[in-house]
Amino acid sequence: MEQQENIFLLKGKVQHYDWGGTDYLPELLQFENNGKQPCAEYWMGAHASAPSILICNSEERPLNELIKNDPGKFIGKKVQERFGELPYLLKILDVKKMLSIQVHPTKSEAEKGFDAEEKKGTPVNAANRNYKDRNHKPEVMIALSEFWLLHGFKTEEKIAQVLNEVEAFHPLQNIFKEKGTKGLYQHVMEMPQNEVNTMLLPLVKNILSNKASDKSKPEYWIQKLFAENKSEEPGDLDKGIFSIYFFNIVKAEKGEAIFQGAGLPHAYLEGQNVELMANSDNVLRGGLTSKYVDVPELLKHTSFEGIVPKALQPQLNKNEKIFNCPVPDFGISEITLGENETIQLQTGSLEILFVLEGDITVESGSKKIDAKRGEAIAVLPASDFRITSKTGNSVVYKAFVP
Ligand SMILES: [Zn+2]
Repeated sequence: MEQQENIFLLKGKVQHYDWGGTDYLPELLQFENNGKQPCAEYWMGAHASAPSILICNSEERPLNELIKNDPGKFIGKKVQERFGELPYLLKILDVKKMLSIQVHPTKSEAEKGFDAEEKKGTPVNAANRNYKDRNHKPEVMIALSEFWLLHGFKTEEKIAQVLNEVEAFHPLQNIFKEKGTKGLYQHVMEMPQNEVNTMLLPLVKNILSNKASDKSKPEYWIQKLFAENKSEEPGDLDKGIFSIYFFNIVKAEKGEAIFQGAGLPHAYLEGQNVELMANSDNVLRGGLTSKYVDVPELLKHTSFEGIVPKALQPQLNKNEKIFNCPVPDFGISEITLGENETIQLQTGSLEILFVLEGDITVESGSKKIDAKRGEAIAVLPASDFRITSKTGNSVVYKAFVP
């Protein structure tokens, strides 16, 4: 009775970016990593470059193809009309090395930027291409460990304090007084490399000569930056170092959620998380890695407003903590069940369940699927289904379209 099937085992894809750790994802997903390859991200969704596989009657079918052939069945009419695709991508991340400082454009800016680069003829896979698609890329993450990130500019008061405390930055004080955060950031990002080196070299040398262990302080991350690049002697210094001082350094405790909307500068520094984002690859970078930096384009899309970082507060519904996000593309919830406990749910669009802990059974109609830690299940739109924890506590993350 294939037509009535509405729950499927889903197999995602591991991405081996060089910043990933070697152990977390292999242990979680239970595969061997004898060659100690970096395993950075596990993707669950319908992105054309790495679509997930659904197991349908023991046949393996790519999710993007299934959606293309029958969007009404696989994502539902409403989502098809509004987005034309599955609007989200669910990931598990293991961040060992720091990622690039980055900003994502708004939807309308992404459309303009994409069209302009198409017109110019920059190939979509070129290193200097900014816009890979016409979509925005808001992101929400829930920490699976203690997780560290750079998140938005500090308030003006705090930046003034940094410029005062760090001697190397004293020459920047007047620029900041006259032009504020935007003027300050623009100044350092446009500074010729030899001036950057002159300003930062004494600071960096000093930092590298003492062991720093406080992760809430810039010194720790600057040491990590040099340790990762395996450089004994600082050569040309990365302008991202300024951002380590000017941005908020945030620790998300396990279970805390952080949302990053268009324009908010950020960089993941260390830890594991579950991340949900719009289906896009539009990233404007600002240093900390060797990737392409387009300063004018970065400045155009960055929000310079100082912020005090806040975790996203969930709405509690019995066993489900629902993190609603200020975007129409996605929401995420965390479902916790004790032994033999059941939760009854209903889908709007296609929902993806990822089992982080425990052992569950998902049932809908006459179909029943077992899934354990590291496994994922796709539930089709307009389905009534229930999840039961078989042994002990189970923790499940659920991605949905609001
Ligand atoms: Zn991002």
